[in-house]
Amino acid sequence: MLLGYSWLLVACFVGFQYIREKEYRAGILDEQLQIYNRQILDAIAAGISVDECVKTQTTPFGGLRVTVMSTDGTPIYDNASDTLPQTNHLDRPEIREAIEHGIGHTVSRHSQTTDETYFYSAMAQGDFIVRSAAPYNVSLYRILEADRGFLWFMLIVTMLVSVFGWFSSRHIGKTETLYQESEKTRIKKQLTNNINHELKTPVAAIHVCLETLIDHPNLPESKRNEIIQRCYSNSKRLRTLLQDVSTLTRLEDGKDSIIRERVSVLQAIETAVAENPDADAFDIVIDVHKDIVLEGSPQLMLSVFRNLLSNAITYSQGNKIEILQPDPRTITFADNGVGIPSEHLERIFERFYRVDKGRSRELGGTGLGLSIVKNALAFHSATITATNLSPSGLQFIIRF
Ligand code: ADP
Repeated sequence: MLLGYSWLLVACFVGFQYIREKEYRAGILDEQLQIYNRQILDAIAAGISVDECVKTQTTPFGGLRVTVMSTDGTPIYDNASDTLPQTNHLDRPEIREAIEHGIGHTVSRHSQTTDETYFYSAMAQGDFIVRSAAPYNVSLYRILEADRGFLWFMLIVTMLVSVFGWFSSRHIGKTETLYQESEKTRIKKQLTNNINHELKTPVAAIHVCLETLIDHPNLPESKRNEIIQRCYSNSKRLRTLLQDVSTLTRLEDGKDSIIRERVSVLQAIETAVAENPDADAFDIVIDVHKDIVLEGSPQLMLSVFRNLLSNAITYSQGNKIEILQPDPRTITFADNGVGIPSEHLERIFERFYRVDKGRSRELGGTGLGLSIVKNALAFHSATITATNLSPSGLQFIIRF
């Protein structure tokens, strides 16, 4: 494709250069003939007869045809035929040009008077127009012909550049594929490392709890319950983490195996609110006047609003959540809480990215919630962005 374009570009350039070269050469020829025309016109103005001028002046080309005419186009002298041409010459392009601009030329035209093809140059001055015409012969062709060496040079250079470009683009293509593969491996490795790290904490906590219970069978009831409670909450965290990781892996590697069915966005919002036991503590406004219905996964769509809702409840420290529809394909999800420091906003959709690491863990967060949201929306060809609200709060904008 790129190669095709560069060829086209070079073809245009060479073509343009070729035309310019021809024009340049025609210009040089015209200049020589015009010098001759001026000599004739000056001689006429000095009172010398046209016939004598033509015979005495040295011509720049052999076989030059000289025609003198009055400014109305009537020929009054022509050295190419014994009888003067009877036609008016005003319609000849070089004559018209000469009348308008003083000089004019025509690169090639066949003459009916002499049955030959000429290069014509005309000059108008005072009451006369002088036109000299060089017949097309081998030497004139040579003068007018563009330098073909230049064209060949351009062609060869283009071919060399194309071949070089083709090889290097193949090389770049290979390097790019290798880079993408190694990037993919690196991300996978990073994910595995993060998962290991995230798993270690709850597993170690459960281990310590169980060890304490085994080693101290006579612990007081209240202490025992406290340890069992800690064990339970850590196992819950472990379960959420495994669920989140499995959702993300499915979104990354098993997209094709997810069955697509009818998804109602409004239904996902309403279910997420209805099933969250802490939602009552918030004033929640849902104003989605025209439901958005897509082909996708109802479970994934539910997980989008489940995550956004539980984040707002857990982290915002606000008391109001608004889910609105500013236009038919956009849903906004906003709280009136503390928002997120702007330097973190860009990164909150990354896996395991937390604004306040300690607080998130403490509150049971895995750091995967918004990453799931983003990927689940991408599965439905939708995008999500986050902005802070004024005076306070965080707003997510989802575009379907
Ligand atoms: P987590 O599992 O920690 O909740 P998320 O990916 O869901 O991870 O969220 C990333 C971080 O973004 C959270 O740790 C939290 O600090 C911040 N965050 C998410 N939603 C809000 C919100 N509505 N208000 C303030 N901070 C938020």
